[in-house]
Amino acid sequence: MFKSSSSSSSGSIVIDLWSDAGTVGLQARFAYTFSEDHHLLRDSMLSFARDQIAPGAAKRDQEREFPLALVAELGEMGIMAARVPESHGGPAVDTVGYTLILEALGRADVGLASVVAATNLVAVILSEQATAAQRERWLLPLCTGAAGAASFCLTEPGGGSDAAALTTTVIRDGDDFVLNGSKMWITSGGHAGVYLVFARTESADGTKGISTFVVDPGTRGLEIGKDEPKMGQRCSGTTALHFDDCKIPAANLIGPLHGGYRAAISSLGAGRIGISGACIGVAEAALSLGLGYAEDRKAFGKPIAHFQTSQFMLADCRTELDAAWLLTLRAAFLHDAGHRADAASSMAKLVSSETTDRIVDRMLQLHGGYGYSEEYPIERLYRDSRVLRIYEGTSEIQRMIIARSLF
Ligand SMILES: Cc1cc2nc3c(=O)[nH]c(=O)nc-3n(C[C@H](O)[C@H](O)[C@H](O)COP(=O)(O)OP(=O)(O)OC[C@H]3O[C@@H](n4cnc5c(N)ncnc54)[C@H](O)[C@@H]3O)c2cc1C
Repeated sequence: MFKSSSSSSSGSIVIDLWSDAGTVGLQARFAYTFSEDHHLLRDSMLSFARDQIAPGAAKRDQEREFPLALVAELGEMGIMAARVPESHGGPAVDTVGYTLILEALGRADVGLASVVAATNLVAVILSEQATAAQRERWLLPLCTGAAGAASFCLTEPGGGSDAAALTTTVIRDGDDFVLNGSKMWITSGGHAGVYLVFARTESADGTKGISTFVVDPGTRGLEIGKDEPKMGQRCSGTTALHFDDCKIPAANLIGPLHGGYRAAISSLGAGRIGISGACIGVAEAALSLGLGYAEDRKAFGKPIAHFQTSQFMLADCRTELDAAWLLTLRAAFLHDAGHRADAASSMAKLVSSETTDRIVDRMLQLHGGYGYSEEYPIERLYRDSRVLRIYEGTSEIQRMIIARSLF
């Protein structure tokens, strides 16, 4: 049984699922209840998102304004490094809690949710791979908010899906490493306090020879590209990065030499569960706008909510959204329970992002011509949601991961 958080305002949320070993690697029935901490976290994040984030979202979109003050505030709350354990200075939020955070942010401004998600990818890698001295220098400032956002720099102009084909090179030069190459579509580019960069240390092809480095902002040879003129999520500050004989100390190598590909893929696996939460947040916001509009708008002498076509459209949205919730919470629960959750995370991300796209599209349709106006928030959600099927692994890549788990 599942009571979605949106359909029930209070009470515990219980998931009771049976799952097949073939898809999620778990041959068991499990039930899960949100803890008191999850309720508190969700309530406080929803209030913060509603009161502090949502009011400025349209302006940030129009002015392509990076949410610096909100990032600082979320940083002080520990949200930029939410999943980092207390022993490393973080608040030790579990994957379920992290998903709830991104859902709340996604409801108010999914561009900001993307900034938070990218920073958390970096924080988790630093927490798992960095030495104590490196954590002190780069992770702690993310945990306290002093560093603001962090950028996760994997994708290149030549491709993102095939991360193993990256061509940014790094060669050892005495006590330093020298980086050359370019990254593309980097969230928080130009605003980050930490850039975590994946580069090829060896000429070996594929997954071998890739290592992880921190590049500090302002390092000579690091050039930040222009803010990409994006369709949506315009506040998230997406840029290219260029490394031109960019020299960094050898002490900036994070984790083992040639361990970068594994670190990137593993952090993205769990990160996708959070992105599913952000997708659900957008869809919840869209559905709520659609419901409100359907009750207010009249046609043929009655509110359009009275037409069965509108009701069926809304019923389909609620049903599909609850299904996305279930898959997302299953993935989060599996992850927290220490099970392998690659396929479950990909299913959650695939279904949540595609469901969100459908829901936002239907809710825009329900708004008629006004849905096409910038003066109605559904228009921004329509633009903001489209990239959810593309970043942190396209829908096609999620299907590849799921298919792989079947054999
Ligand atoms: C707003 C935004 C923010 C982003 N933020 C970041 C960030 O912070 N850090 C970062 O590193 N990256 C980031 N990205 C990059 C994003 O992760 C990539 O765009 C994505 O992984 C796809 O890579 P690509 O654009 O190079 O498309 P390609 O890899 O060139 O793919 C093009 C098309 O081919 C399909 N395709 C590719 N390979 C296969 C295959 N084997 N089988 C079937 N279909 C296939 C893809 O699904 C896609 O439809 C961001 C992108 C955007 C738009």
